[in-house]
Amino acid sequence: MAAVLSTREATGMLVAIGFDNAPRSFATAFTGFQQGWNLGPALDPDGRFGTHTSAALAISFARQRKGLSTMSPNFSYVEFRCNDGGRFPECRRIWMLRDHIRRLEAYRVKIGAPVRIVSGCRCKRHNAEVGGAKSSQHMFGTASDIQGLASLDQKKRFALFAGLGFQQSTGRVVHVDSRDKGASNLTGGKPTAPTTWRYST
Ligand SMILES: [Zn+2]
Repeated sequence: MAAVLSTREATGMLVAIGFDNAPRSFATAFTGFQQGWNLGPALDPDGRFGTHTSAALAISFARQRKGLSTMSPNFSYVEFRCNDGGRFPECRRIWMLRDHIRRLEAYRVKIGAPVRIVSGCRCKRHNAEVGGAKSSQHMFGTASDIQGLASLDQKKRFALFAGLGFQQSTGRVVHVDSRDKGASNLTGGKPTAPTTWRYST
């Protein structure tokens, strides 16, 4: 049986890959880590730091040291960290759902180019601060704002995401979400019939 990392070692690794809350909220940080991990079989986000989570964290940390992505083949945890700058102590920092990250990987393949993440997780206070919708998918770890690469028609054809927000002026999709996989889906959107809306700015 593989050894489990000590809390101290694991904390250092979590901080290195973006969980700046690990020193004060170790369990919250590694649960966020478990939830999103896509570099092997899914981890059970059970809040228990055992052999599987320990081995997975060692893999992510080793990749980070080599300048590789830490969460999935092409995405890193830190890209999805709440942009509140760490000002809110209750913020979980990074809590993306694995299913959404898998869809982003599939999207990346379809579009044939890297996808820049503009915004991922948003805690309640940061969401209010930036004027996000009250039930914003960003609060559930199921949404990302991305660089607009594809048109709404393309995105619909891909049938990957359950919510698509596009910029009126360019027609490009700048928000994608997996509300069908998360804790709240008030509009009933799904990949075959996504909820869509436009941003006028
Ligand atoms: Zn936050």
